[in-house]
Amino acid sequence: MSYTEPSRPSIVLCSLNAKYIHASLGLRYLMANMARHGSTDLADRTALLEFTLAKPLPDMVSQLLGTLGEPLHGQVQIIGFGVYIWNVVQTTALIRLLKTQRPSLKIVLGGPEVSHETDQQEIVQISDHVITGWGDVSFPKLCMQLIDGPQPLMKVIQGEQPPLDQIELPYQYFSDADLANRLLYVEASRGCPFKCEFCLSSLDKTAWAFELAPFLNELQTLYHRGARNFKFVDRTFNLKIEASVQILQFFLNRLAEPDADGLLVHFEVIPDHLPDKLKVLIAQYPPGVLQFEVGIQSFNETVQKLISRRQDNVQTEANLRWLINESNAHLHTDLIFGLPGETLDSFAAGFDRLLAIGPQEIQLGILKRLRGTPIVRHTTSFEMIYDDQPPYVVRQTKDLDAETLQRFTRMAKYWDLVANSGRFKLSLPCLLKPTSPQNSPFWSFMGFADELWQRFAKTHGLTPENLVDAVFLCLTESRGMPAEEVKALLLQDYLTSGARGRPRCLANERLPLGGDGSKLKSAEVALVTAQKLRVRQDRHVSQSDELTFDRNGK
Ligand code: SF4
Repeated sequence: MSYTEPSRPSIVLCSLNAKYIHASLGLRYLMANMARHGSTDLADRTALLEFTLAKPLPDMVSQLLGTLGEPLHGQVQIIGFGVYIWNVVQTTALIRLLKTQRPSLKIVLGGPEVSHETDQQEIVQISDHVITGWGDVSFPKLCMQLIDGPQPLMKVIQGEQPPLDQIELPYQYFSDADLANRLLYVEASRGCPFKCEFCLSSLDKTAWAFELAPFLNELQTLYHRGARNFKFVDRTFNLKIEASVQILQFFLNRLAEPDADGLLVHFEVIPDHLPDKLKVLIAQYPPGVLQFEVGIQSFNETVQKLISRRQDNVQTEANLRWLINESNAHLHTDLIFGLPGETLDSFAAGFDRLLAIGPQEIQLGILKRLRGTPIVRHTTSFEMIYDDQPPYVVRQTKDLDAETLQRFTRMAKYWDLVANSGRFKLSLPCLLKPTSPQNSPFWSFMGFADELWQRFAKTHGLTPENLVDAVFLCLTESRGMPAEEVKALLLQDYLTSGARGRPRCLANERLPLGGDGSKLKSAEVALVTAQKLRVRQDRHVSQSDELTFDRNGK
């Protein structure tokens, strides 16, 4: 939890984050604009309070009401909540409790989850106001009205969208503790000009850029305060190349200075647009600094057309190969399963195509129907059935029955544990090896996933040792590999993963971290340390999915 305490708060900005590492950029924008679009007094009366989803609701209620204190006679107390697909259930329950304990509270909602289909949502019914779209200007104005009058007439208020130079930048509201321990979300632009129908950003129709000089000044200040972990939330970092060049150059300049240790910079990029001007800069980055999140979603041209996604597949492949061969960037790529028109076979072909290119991570997402996204136009013609509870995942389509969706969901979870975790770097290629001429890496891994499901009947709570033993059994019993050969690979994977347990299949091996008292050779220590750093870098990508998840429906 981070908490900024003003003298007498009567307004609290609150959000329930998926993990502590996520520091809400939206709340900090609101905080920064309370003075400019409200008043200094309003800003002085506003506090910011973040929780993680794991915190018990009664504790959140106590902290929120404790921050506001008992209302003085006639005093208006307001809590503004950021509502997202990942927190809507808990936020609804929290508001119910708050309203029971203090009915006079004014609850104001904002965020993508409550910006569309407001008339259908319980959270809207039990709250006082909703600001749809941008809240930077409209939230302070609404607070002024609630406190000083005249009272707003409308429950649902369309947020004003001012030119970006009328929005105060929020970065001073990242505390020193945020800088030291959390991902710092920053944005050089908002919106997206593309129209992929599963994505909320498709509603923007264009992108707006913040003025670059003030933005870079803010980055400089954050950097000097010690920030080293930056995640750009720009939907398409490589859209306006001149701006991308300056941002990449900014971080290259920092790398040339002493004290750049630990710098990690994460960008979302479109895959088919990588002009030479960018390549020249990207190629200068050392290992471990640059991370690109690259949405591929589908290589199926029919599907791409159906969902209005413009993507040059040939150029995409060429750019990915260049990034892998000529740069040190870590590539986290995304595929979405369940799009209209996608079959299991066509998805498998896309997976194999992407795998052959060799990105460090392939995230296998399942389509979600985000509120407000145009993908609904296919619901009838492609017999799309979505879960009516968040995160609204697709359960069935005309081309994919429910069992296939479930089977794939399990495979995606195992893929994360085994492939994206980086724990099985040497043994994974054996699991992916086609087992028949008609087979392919996708189907080989699917076979392994089916075995895992039969063995464990769960996808959560599996220890690294469970997985090592399962890989051993699959490769030796189902795939017929010699046990000693498999053990050698798994032992090496085990050593580099830094795991501390003792898999059964390695019971007779020397496992320095397994508590058996023997000591690592120095080379093994170096290997383990390097792997831990790598895992930290890989995790950085995975942990940053919160925002993307909400907008992209993957
Ligand atoms: S998926 Fe990416 S490119 Fe497509 S609309 Fe969304 S943000 Fe834009």
